Amino acid sequence: MTEEVKLSVVVSLFTWIQKSRTSAKKRSKFRKFLDTFCKPSDYFSAMRLILPSLDRERGTYGLKESVLAVCLIDALGMSRDSSDALRLINWRKGGANTGASAGNFALVAAEILQRRQGTASGGLTIKELNDLLDHLASAESRAEKTAILSTLINKTNAQEMKWIIMIILKDLKLGISEKSIFHEFHPDAEDLFNVTCDLKLVCEKLRDRIQRHKRQDIEVGKAVRPQLARRVYDPASAWKKLHGKEVVVECKFDGDRIQIHKNRMEIHYYSRNFLDHPEYEHGMSNIIAQNILVDRCILDGEMLVWDSTLNRFADFGSNQEIAKAAKDGLDSERQLCYVAFDILYVGDTSVIHQSLKERHELLQKVVKPLKGHLEILVPNGGLNAHRPPGEPCWSCVTYSVDDVERFFKETIENRDEGIILKDLGSKWEPSDRSGKWLKLKPDYIHAGSDLDVLIIGGYYGSGRRGGEVAQFLVGLADRPDPNAYPRRFLSFCRVGTGLTDDDLETVVKKLKPYFRSIILSITSDIRTIRSEVFAAPYGLRFPRIDRVRYDKPWHECLDVQSFVELVHSSNGT
Ligand code: ATP
Repeated sequence: MTEEVKLSVVVSLFTWIQKSRTSAKKRSKFRKFLDTFCKPSDYFSAMRLILPSLDRERGTYGLKESVLAVCLIDALGMSRDSSDALRLINWRKGGANTGASAGNFALVAAEILQRRQGTASGGLTIKELNDLLDHLASAESRAEKTAILSTLINKTNAQEMKWIIMIILKDLKLGISEKSIFHEFHPDAEDLFNVTCDLKLVCEKLRDRIQRHKRQDIEVGKAVRPQLARRVYDPASAWKKLHGKEVVVECKFDGDRIQIHKNRMEIHYYSRNFLDHPEYEHGMSNIIAQNILVDRCILDGEMLVWDSTLNRFADFGSNQEIAKAAKDGLDSERQLCYVAFDILYVGDTSVIHQSLKERHELLQKVVKPLKGHLEILVPNGGLNAHRPPGEPCWSCVTYSVDDVERFFKETIENRDEGIILKDLGSKWEPSDRSGKWLKLKPDYIHAGSDLDVLIIGGYYGSGRRGGEVAQFLVGLADRPDPNAYPRRFLSFCRVGTGLTDDDLETVVKKLKPYFRSIILSITSDIRTIRSEVFAAPYGLRFPRIDRVRYDKPWHECLDVQSFVELVHSSNGT
């Protein structure tokens, strides 16, 4: 193959993947595409289109649906009060004129574009598309962005433009996991991405898709995918999961997870989506430079705001405002405060393979805490030393389930978020959510909290709702592997009440032609019943739909395993 890959080929790939029902089919389509149509020099161009949320090379577009709507309206030369323009602006709402596309911006846009664009492909290559997307991301004004969108519209058909919009919104809804995509590309791609967060590097280093790659360690200056916490629902099951381990419990802080990479005077602040946050420089970099006692290191922790008048951490949400105040040189009684709870790299070695206990010791050697600016979270030291009298400690080693319960109770009475339990003997693993860290949050302890379940079937109504689906069969995910997408759903209960007629109609319309997966948040009587009728072991009494979660992807549906734990814990309290 010497020809450049055309966008039309990628668009048929996306359409096929989306249409295919099984994960095996989806994967084989993608593999065939790579094998047949791509040369090594095309890998990055293609991968960044299929995994847009992992592409760090071009910054953000600054185009969420509402701004994108206005830019598209202008790019198409439509009047802003025309009915199509209003449909685009009100894309979320159902209504007389909206079909199954309501709630899906790209589909609404595609219907509007269909009447304005030709059907023939514009012949754009994926390289040309990526160049235009680069321009779109770097364009500063809305007018410039509109001009680029107008060029894109001229060079594509409605189908192509629909997928471009989904790429811009970074959500292709293909129903194939990032894990599968990486795996089809190269057996070592996921591992390499996890330690570099650099898709371009992955595509270049693994251009020989058969040759195995030596496992790479983390590096200062390259974001690492953070270790995550698995959710548990009560202290007893947390304790059971960590049976026989030496366990530390810590307060779960409610700020921004930030990795600080220090390389002498160069300091980076990487967030969970591996973007650098230079806005923290003004408030933090001098403090980091002076109080981290080694030239090179990576810290893992939470960026928060410390209120020095109240002598406590401020509520979530003020980081950006305080970072800006620091930049503008404004005085404030509130300031950025970084709480380091882990250390991943010291000097010129990665330390993620050492135990958490050893890493805590390193943290104490490497970081000199500065009250209210830079703190460390280690049992019996660090931040604990600064707590006001009467307040619970921020982190401590526990010896029994009673200790965990007490810590949890004290923490949620004094602070909101909950607690994290960690195995002190465990190493730090990029992107792992397998249970070395567990999180326990108060809302799940109260039975009767919302349960996010997936619609898996419908029942026709009678009377006023005759001839239309009026109730849903909802399911729970079976998720044996917490790191993978669920493959099976178990029927759980039947639910019909809670939605207005209009909301119900919108859900039904959206489900119909595309068999989209929609998540419902349901509540119920706190008591559950052993279920004879449905596949899940327990059902709900008097379930009621609280709201439709269009914002939640299907794979974030509650799983049976977690639900059973929730039932056991609420029965026990
Ligand atoms: P949530 O919505 O519950 O915050 P999440 O999806 O953001 O969860 P999780 O993996 O479930 O992420 O929980 C881990 C997050 O908790 C970390 O990303 C971090 O931001 C935060 N956190 C707060 N305190 C701690 C702590 N002491 N140790 C580890 N993570 C902590």
